Order: sequence, then C-alpha cells, then structure tokens
Amino acid sequence: MNNHFDLIAIGGGSGGLAVAEKAAQFARRVAIVDAGKLGGTCVNAGCVPKKVMWYAANLAHGVADAPGFGVRAHLEGIDWPRLVAERDRYIARINDYWEGYATELGMTRLTGQARFVDARTIAVGDARYTADHIVIATGSAPIVPGMPGAELGITSDGFFALPEQPRRVAIIGGGYIGVELAGVLRALGSEVTLVALEDRMLFAFDDQTSEVLAENMAEQGIETHLGFEVAGLAETPNGKALLRRGGERLDGFDTVIWAVGRRPNSAGLGLEAVGVQTQEGGLIAVDAYQNTNVAGIYAVGDVTGREPLTPVAIAAGRRLAERLFNDKPEAKLDYDNVPTVVFSHPPAGKVGLTEREARERHGDAVTVYRTAFTPMRYSLSAHPARTAMKLVCAGPDERIVGIHMIGDGVDEMLQGFAVVVKMGGTKADLDATVALHPTSAEELVTLKVPDRPHEAT
Ligand SMILES: Cc1cc2nc3c(=O)[nH]c(=O)nc-3n(C[C@H](O)[C@H](O)[C@H](O)COP(=O)(O)OP(=O)(O)OC[C@H]3O[C@@H](n4cnc5c(N)ncnc54)[C@H](O)[C@@H]3O)c2cc1C
Repeated sequence: MNNHFDLIAIGGGSGGLAVAEKAAQFARRVAIVDAGKLGGTCVNAGCVPKKVMWYAANLAHGVADAPGFGVRAHLEGIDWPRLVAERDRYIARINDYWEGYATELGMTRLTGQARFVDARTIAVGDARYTADHIVIATGSAPIVPGMPGAELGITSDGFFALPEQPRRVAIIGGGYIGVELAGVLRALGSEVTLVALEDRMLFAFDDQTSEVLAENMAEQGIETHLGFEVAGLAETPNGKALLRRGGERLDGFDTVIWAVGRRPNSAGLGLEAVGVQTQEGGLIAVDAYQNTNVAGIYAVGDVTGREPLTPVAIAAGRRLAERLFNDKPEAKLDYDNVPTVVFSHPPAGKVGLTEREARERHGDAVTVYRTAFTPMRYSLSAHPARTAMKLVCAGPDERIVGIHMIGDGVDEMLQGFAVVVKMGGTKADLDATVALHPTSAEELVTLKVPDRPHEAT
C-alpha cells in the first residue's frame, strides 16, 4: 500500500470525520485513524447516548403528567437493560454507517493510536504513514481528580456503561454534563444528589437560567449542595461517601459520578517530537484558521478547547478542508455567537452574551427583556416546570447580543433565534415578527417592557 496521503485525520470523531469527509469529497487521498469505533465521543459516549436517555426521561415525565390531562397512564418502572441495549444498537448502526461511508468515499481507515514521528509522518503500531497535511482531532476525556478514593467514582463514560440502573447517585459537578445526568437519572426514578463547587449550576450560563434550573431540579426532588468542595471519596458501611473539605460528609450512594470537566487528548501524540505547542492543560494552540505553530499540522475540536461542541468541531473541520483543498484561502470558522443547548430537565439554551458579560462589554447601553411563566404543557399537570427567557440587547438600536432560555422546547426553539443573532437582528425585528400561537416561542417576539436599570442582575 502507498502510505502517503494528502491528509491524515488523527481521530475519527466529529472533527476528524468532518475534515476527512470533505477532503475525500474533493478527491484527495485521505486516511483516518482511530483506535475505537468511528463517531468519537459524540456518537459513542456523548450527545447521542445522552439524548436517547433524555428522551426516555421525557417519556417518564410525560407518563407522570398524563393523568392531569385525563390520560390514564401509570409508570410501571424502567427496563434499564432494554433501554441500554436499544440505545447501543442505535449507536452501532451509526458506527456502521460511518465505516461504510468512509469506505465509499475511498478513505483509508487505520485502526490504532497515532503518534507523530516527524511533522509529516505518523506511526500507528509499527506502520508509518506520511501526509502533506495532518489534522489532530483527538478530542477530550473526562477528568478524575487526583484525590483519596477518587477511583470509587465513575465518569460519564462509566455512566453509559452501567448495566443496571443506579438507585442512589451522587453527581459531582454542576456543569452541563452534571445537570444532564442528574435530570435523566431522577426522571427514571433514581435518587439524585448533585454537588458543585460553584455557588450556582451552569456557571457559564445566564444567572436567570441557573436560578430557574435550580427551582425545577428542587421540584423534581434532586438534592443539590452548592459551594461544596469534594476532598475525597470513601467506601463506608453506608455506601459510598463524598468527603467535603472541612469535615462534613454525604453518604449512602451506590454510584458516584465525576462530572468535573474534560482534558484534551494530547499526551501520547508525540507532539514534543515535532514541536507542536500546547497551552495549559495540554490544549493545542491554534490560530483562527486551525493552524498549529508547525506548518502542515492543524487541530480542530475539543483538543483545542474552543467551544467543545460537536457542531463546532464539524464546522471547523469542514472549513479547514475547504481552505486546504477547495481554493478558499479565507475559509475559517467564526466562533462568535455559537448557540449551546443543555439537555437538562427542562432543557436550557443560550446564544451570545449573558447579561453579566453584556454589561461588562457595553455598560449602560444594555437593555434586558425577560419573562417567566408556566407553559400550557404543564397547566393541568401535577409537576409544573417553569420556563424563563431573557433577551439581552445593546446600543440605541437594541441589537440582540444574547438570548437565554430554559423550559420545555427551548432546545428546538433556539436554533432559529440563533440565526437572528448571527444576522445582527434587533429587538425591532422580533417585534415585527408575528407570533405563533399558542406556543412558548411566541413569548420571545412579544416581550414588551425592559427591566428598569435598578432591576438588572
Ligand atoms: C456526556 C457528553 C455529552 C455531550 N453532549 C453534547 C451535546 O449534546 N451536543 C454537543 O454539541 N456536544 C456534546 N458533547 C461534546 C461533544 O461530544 C464533543 O464536543 C465532540 O465529540 C468533539 O469532537 P472531536 O472531534 O473534537 O473529538 P471526539 O469526538 O472526542 O473524537 C476524538 C477521537 O479521537 C480518537 N483518538 C484520541 N487519541 C487518538 C490517537 N492518539 N490516535 C488515534 N485516535 C485517537 C478517540 O478515540 C476519539 O474517537 C458531549 C460530550 C459528552 C462527554
């Protein structure tokens, strides 16, 4: 086999597949390397299995709410092994799709861990492969902090591998993975305690989103402890325990899940051998065009630490291939106003600046509109979930610089509104749009009165 390629993608996840697919479509010789199944984190241990579990949780919520609407239904229980088996079958279909599609596009599939030999050469096992362009798309892995008993906990990877439903779960971390797993497990009937170091969950989101999520989680019976610094884990006669710095402890758990962040998969790639610069924590430093400091070596996706989301890795990978192989020298991803959704219960989403960030950037020129209500979906239900929305505008023309929502359906709603923000839309554009009724989305185009300055948070 000729071992020289136009492009080698190291990592068969969202970013690697995207750049390899595009390059192959431009009739380039492409190889893609991964030790695991094609699809990466998103398909195998991220977005996809998570969303399947989230749908199961929604169905369980729906059954609980059904009697209020006169629909006789009763939740008999959760068949966890079946849920996991069906989910994994679905994932296997996606893996097979990618393997088949890669072959169809003429890509060479290399199986194993890649490491650099020199700037144009990688080794996979004993074999050597060279390329004009090498893209590092190795993603990230969950962090387990080095502290006593840390090994008693599992991570999101371990959560997806659980063969039985855990009964009493502690989740450490109030970021998006922590709150998502908390919501799923609680809806499926587990007892859930979530602890977070920060004084609010979803710290990177707008305050209003964190507040309404906290209310909804309390309503669902999720116990939360904020400002809780875990110093270690221990096995006790009463199950697993979280040891809090300062003495207190929470125990009685059969499962503890670390959800305290992810670290880039850059160690072991032999980056030192070729002089690719990394930043603190091993993130690979790239410029706006995904170039590392070494010519011909690029990085996309989680390993760069820039907006670690699947569509971001895909978009960056595609634009890189356009630039390298389709005569578009200026192609690059604009990382501004990337929308994000958290599949909590209810889901939350944001695009653009939080109110706090907008005030730091635009000072008194910020105008904020907000609303909070119980949507009709819950009007007859015994378990109401609140919805809240916030529009953050800046300048005399009230350009929309941020939209924040939490509530049923916002996960689907946000995409369209993100287009408005990306296009530089204003509050007047929303006012000029006729509402869809009866929906929750209509609230965002019918916001009337801005906060008075002293009401600002
Ligand atoms: C629980 C969870 C839920 C998530 N939910 C969402 C969501 O709802 N929406 C969303 O947009 N994002 C979500 N994400 C984030 C999303 O999965 C990542 O942003 C995305 O997968 C990043 O793509 P990537 O190509 O950078 O890396 P990955 O998809 O992680 O792919 C990297 C690949 O590289 C391989 N690899 C690593 N080192 C080597 C090596 N040396 N040689 C060869 N191969 C190597 C790995 O095996 C892996 O397959 C979630 C993540 C997690 C963990």
